[in-house]
Amino acid sequence: MSAKIIDGKSIAARIRESVKSEADKLRREGHAPCLAAVLSGSDAAARSYAQSQARRSADVGIDYRLVELAADSDMPSALDVIDRLNGDSGVSGIMLHLPLPQGLDAFELQQRIVPSKDVEGVGAGNLGLLMMGRDALAPCTAAAAFTCLQESGIEIKGRETVVIGRSVIVGKPLATLLLAAHATVTQCHTRTRDLATHTRRAEVLMVAAGVPQLIGREHVSPGAVVIDVGTHRVPDPNGEPGKVKTVGDVRFDEVVDVASAITPVPGGVGPVTVAMLLANTVAACRRGTND
Ligand code: NAD
Repeated sequence: MSAKIIDGKSIAARIRESVKSEADKLRREGHAPCLAAVLSGSDAAARSYAQSQARRSADVGIDYRLVELAADSDMPSALDVIDRLNGDSGVSGIMLHLPLPQGLDAFELQQRIVPSKDVEGVGAGNLGLLMMGRDALAPCTAAAAFTCLQESGIEIKGRETVVIGRSVIVGKPLATLLLAAHATVTQCHTRTRDLATHTRRAEVLMVAAGVPQLIGREHVSPGAVVIDVGTHRVPDPNGEPGKVKTVGDVRFDEVVDVASAITPVPGGVGPVTVAMLLANTVAACRRGTND
């Protein structure tokens, strides 16, 4: 058996299409959606991510405002920047690029973003609402992994679902989304004994361990659905010296023959995550119009 490949790129394209149509509608109503991204320091990956975000935003009709913190910014001045964006009616959503230079506390800055503009869904307000089953801006990666199931028409209700990982931005909210959709959820983590005993019971296996190639054939029961959230740049053994490739937490080549459906890496959850941030931005803008 060879699994159906869940194509994250085409799911992301569909999400962007619907984001664009909502953004156009908002514009016609006089409310231009705007994503403000706060960037600090010289991290090349964060800078390049910000550039691609700007392009993606423009493609769907979202204004993108890059707010650069000065190299010597301290916490009071960084908090002041967040406060100003919180109070700016032209800004629909705020996100913080990581990593931050030493001396800036990402947690404190993220918690300062008002829940209505917290488009990464990382603040206590949105996480609390999500936990209570209320309308919330869900963390983008968790929402993306969940959307990969939904958009592929995979039944979740009542099914044995195992989540590997319990981080605040991926594992925990993902388990919450699955519970809300009536899955029976087991959550595994670093202290779980005999991981394979749990994962082999899964009809749906969601992997967000952050460990390259952790999950192989021995962890997956025949016919299971496997969603791989992991993304890692590792040396490419078949490439020239110094060449790297992107892999997930799952050994795709092994598991593709056992699973009934699987997300690839790259091209699975990753592109959907980027689209979710845009979707959260138009959702935040729409709610702002109802205030
Ligand atoms: P994290 O390191 O914060 O959390 C990893 C979790 O996995 C922890 O809760 C830990 O208990 C658990 N874990 C680690 N090793 C384990 C093991 N051997 N057995 C069982 N559980 C184990 O990572 P995170 O921020 O939750 O991200 C998870 C993965 O998702 C990472 O690979 C990250 O790069 C990736 N990620 C992808 C996207 C995307 O857009 N695709 C976005 C964010 C993160």
